Amino acid sequence: MRLLLIGAPGAGKGTQAQRLAERFGIAHISSGDLLRQHVRDQTALGRTIKSYVEAGDLVPDAVVMDMLRKPTVAATENGGYVLDGFPRTMPQALRAAQIGLELGITSDAVIYLTAPEEELVTRLLDRANRDGRPDDTLDVIRHRLAVYARETAPLVDYYRGRGILLELSTDRPEADVRADLRDGLEARGLVLAGGSQTVPDGTGASAGAKDR
Ligand code: AMP
Repeated sequence: MRLLLIGAPGAGKGTQAQRLAERFGIAHISSGDLLRQHVRDQTALGRTIKSYVEAGDLVPDAVVMDMLRKPTVAATENGGYVLDGFPRTMPQALRAAQIGLELGITSDAVIYLTAPEEELVTRLLDRANRDGRPDDTLDVIRHRLAVYARETAPLVDYYRGRGILLELSTDRPEADVRADLRDGLEARGLVLAGGSQTVPDGTGASAGAKDR
């Protein structure tokens, strides 16, 4: 199963991606986590992108695409992935679609998580208290939301037009989000009624971990 997770900062991408990865035995690939790891490790890439990440600006498309290529291809050969935080711009989405076609690994579904803006800000400020991320200050949060609205929100219509968008509000009990997610994946033929992942060739045989 190959999934993309998009949504504003604070919409719950990390949480849902982790659950999906555990449930289906697929890799959780978070562009933000990988970039932050480079910054922490002070790699050459980390030094180049530090100022973008800390200011809440998007890292240049080519840098992110290069960084994600290897882990995504490896995960594809190993059951699939949930890509959390990618794509974030139309050029990223278009390039990813092109590469996917070339390699025969197009995405099965794009999960779009939503929550009201004030709820997003509240969640991110809570996370700041827990995790101390440098981009979780109020000013940077507001900037990231503006960047999201300008650069990433247009992807919603793009994926809706391709018929692979699954939209879910996370502003409600977790059990409801989880049930709708399972139903949405089932409706797209990606999950069997028992909760297992269908195999990529569509034979319907069980290939994934059991739904938990
Ligand atoms: P996240 O952890 O998804 O909130 O991402 C944290 C930061 O990493 C973002 O504010 C950007 O600076 C950078 N980032 C993550 N994913 C991408 C992407 N797909 N394109 C460009 N920048 C990204």
